Amino acid sequence: MEKSRGSRPVAFAFVFVAVLVAEAAVIDRQKREFVIPDWIEIVDEPVAENSKTIQRAVRVRDAKITYDGAQVWRVQGSEAQKDLVSNVTMDFQESGLLSLWVGNDTVVDVMVRVEEIPRVSRYLKQKDLQYQVVIEDLQRAIDEENPSLSAEEIEELQGRKARYAWWQGVAIRVPSRYSRPRPLRYPVASVHGVGGPWRFRGHRMEWSSYHRLEDIHGYLDYLAETFPDVCSVVSIGNSVEGRPLKVIRISNGKPNAPALWIDGGIHAREWISPAAVTYIINHLVENSETLEADYYILPVANPDGYEYTFTKDRLWRKNRKRSVGSLCTGVDLNRNFGYRWGGMGTSKDPCREIYAGSGPFSEPETNAIRYFFEASAANFKAYLTFHSYGQYILYPWGYDKRVPPDYADLERVGRQVSTAMRKAGGANSAYTVGNSATTLYAASGGSDDWAKAILKMKYTYTIELRDTGKHGFVLPARYIVPTAKEALAAVMVVTEACKSL
Ligand SMILES: [Zn+2]
Repeated sequence: MEKSRGSRPVAFAFVFVAVLVAEAAVIDRQKREFVIPDWIEIVDEPVAENSKTIQRAVRVRDAKITYDGAQVWRVQGSEAQKDLVSNVTMDFQESGLLSLWVGNDTVVDVMVRVEEIPRVSRYLKQKDLQYQVVIEDLQRAIDEENPSLSAEEIEELQGRKARYAWWQGVAIRVPSRYSRPRPLRYPVASVHGVGGPWRFRGHRMEWSSYHRLEDIHGYLDYLAETFPDVCSVVSIGNSVEGRPLKVIRISNGKPNAPALWIDGGIHAREWISPAAVTYIINHLVENSETLEADYYILPVANPDGYEYTFTKDRLWRKNRKRSVGSLCTGVDLNRNFGYRWGGMGTSKDPCREIYAGSGPFSEPETNAIRYFFEASAANFKAYLTFHSYGQYILYPWGYDKRVPPDYADLERVGRQVSTAMRKAGGANSAYTVGNSATTLYAASGGSDDWAKAILKMKYTYTIELRDTGKHGFVLPARYIVPTAKEALAAVMVVTEACKSL
């Protein structure tokens, strides 16, 4: 009896603990049930045009899209085969067997999936069309395009930039201390505390590799923080997925200065574009005392698409809008502007690369640009939009093979731009000048046509940066600096032209 009386509380205690453990397990399991697994994404899905959205869980294709064995071919037709070339690309694009990269009436670059190589090859031979393989293995080209920086390099970069920023702050602050009382722009509490060199985050931007959106936006913020007299950054809106559209304004306050708009990255896969545009930003800020114009620069006009090219599909072009009633995603933002929207060179099919969207300015990215110009009082004279590839300096119109009344001015300045770009870049820097629709192909709803027709911007150019096809969109990072120098030369020539308006 003695023994059992002593063991009863022990047994109760044991049961009590067991119940607690079991309960905790149940709670834990319930908690875990609310944790969304990696492969589920909650998306806002529009239920109808211009109405509310509902939330829906979708399965995410977690695998990165790869291009093992895929090739890029240059298909050549004779003058007599003009229609044939466009028919071929139309036929295949519609069936998804290959995708058109760039081209005109007689030459096109197409990407062919490995499993389709025999069929497409047979087809082209039947039609008596010549082709050559330009990229043997697209995935290998992608893997070699952008060597990543080492942890040491990033550390070095951030440390150096932070110290530089701190010294800039010291240099600016010291004289003003004696002249007039003003709040210290760079409060330095202590070297180890909130102040000192380590207060500044620095930035990760440089031009020997392609950078993620975070680095680019971090760089803009750094410039605004470090050089507040020259730079300011505003977000002019948000992308479909909620990323900010950051515009940096660079101005030394010179009165009556003309204003230029520059954008990049409207097509996600054209990585050289944001890289060149950020290089231009760097140059303008470093030489801000000599500037004779104000610059408004949006380096990544399609931030969702840009990020998607790093995380899922290197060759993504459009934004990331989910279309109602279609499984396909994305609108071609450079078909979505509101001048001659939906005309030649566009598609109403959300699965196509040139899908123009559900209406003019249906996309938040293009809409933000429109509202920015509607609200801005700046004295805009030029609109430069950087793309790749092909090495062209294109002026309106894109919607048809016609030219604006002042096309002679556009041609003349375009040729000056071409000359300057060749000088700046050296070998392989030949850029062709011409009217958009004639030189390349008709494309309605582009930003350039809208800027020219609606905003009445004198010097409106779409500049297709390097190269001429050897690497296409997958331009190795070692070409960033020479290409960016060409782009910068273009900006300088157009600035000069604006001054005389
Ligand atoms: Zn483009």
